[in-house]
Amino acid sequence: MSDQPFRSGFVALLGRPNVGKSTLFNRILGEKIAITSNKPQTTRNRIRGIHNAPGAQTVFVDTPGLHDPRKKDLNRAMVANAREAAVDANVLALLISAKDGFREDDEIGLDLVRNREQPSVLVINKIDQILRPEVLPVIEKAAALNLFKEIIPVSALKGDNVTHFVEVVTKMLPEGPALFPTDILTDQAERIWAAEIVREKIIRHTEEELPYSTTVTVETFEEDKDLIKIRALILVERDSQKGIVIGRGGSMLKRIGSEARRDLENFLGIKVYLELFVRVQKEWWRNPENWNQG
Ligand code: GDP
Ligand code: MG
Repeated sequence: MSDQPFRSGFVALLGRPNVGKSTLFNRILGEKIAITSNKPQTTRNRIRGIHNAPGAQTVFVDTPGLHDPRKKDLNRAMVANAREAAVDANVLALLISAKDGFREDDEIGLDLVRNREQPSVLVINKIDQILRPEVLPVIEKAAALNLFKEIIPVSALKGDNVTHFVEVVTKMLPEGPALFPTDILTDQAERIWAAEIVREKIIRHTEEELPYSTTVTVETFEEDKDLIKIRALILVERDSQKGIVIGRGGSMLKRIGSEARRDLENFLGIKVYLELFVRVQKEWWRNPENWNQG
């Protein structure tokens, strides 16, 4: 064995919506744990994924995007959630997109990093979208900020340099024993994950406005010998949205249900029976219980 001390701790993935936090998270963990889409607000909860290596256990924390907190209660809650993840983490990884460089709404993330004592790294993601030399000005600008111990260009989508990123942040972790059993991939309750999968399908197949007004709660998650029965409730704010989610003759709900079931079966490796219900509940987001989606 090696004479290096064992290291363990949390790495928070931070950044504005759409920079690729969940894609990087999934790439690292090699399974579809976080949900991804090109619409903002897909990741509402913090999701923790556990990466085990011979000398270390690195827990990656996927966070909701950092939005302008002046907009709506839910946004504010999500920013608070990301902030908390930053406070708890041993290492902060701020993501930006290579093509966009630093934008105005990266400021919230930069502020988070500025005000914390933990080491932080900058991940310049989506390098597959630009030519190699084009990343140099972004690196220069990042270096001039004097905030980051390392600047790491990656492509989360293609997997380029992702292993290097994992090695760099793992070396920054404090010495200590594993925090979780080494045979689990995520401590996220499976039911919360199931709810997220259903919500991903709704986002994928419906109109832009729905991500902001939909939440999914898993009411029952019963494990049988060779079958898992899941009953999930979809909450929307208006009758018209209920109509969209259900679709003509129930066609949309059927599609959402069968795609979600397929993902769930692939991940859980067991047959899944998924029942979906839709209910209108005005301003469901005022009740914090509905943010957990558990
Ligand atoms: P998040 O909001 O930061 O979690 O972003 P997501 O992980 O949901 O990704 C947002 C969009 O960017 C998705 O359509 C991803 O497929 C895409 N994306 C993420 N990483 C990369 C990358 O490295 N290259 C390219 N071309 N697209 C990416
Ligand atoms: Mg995400």
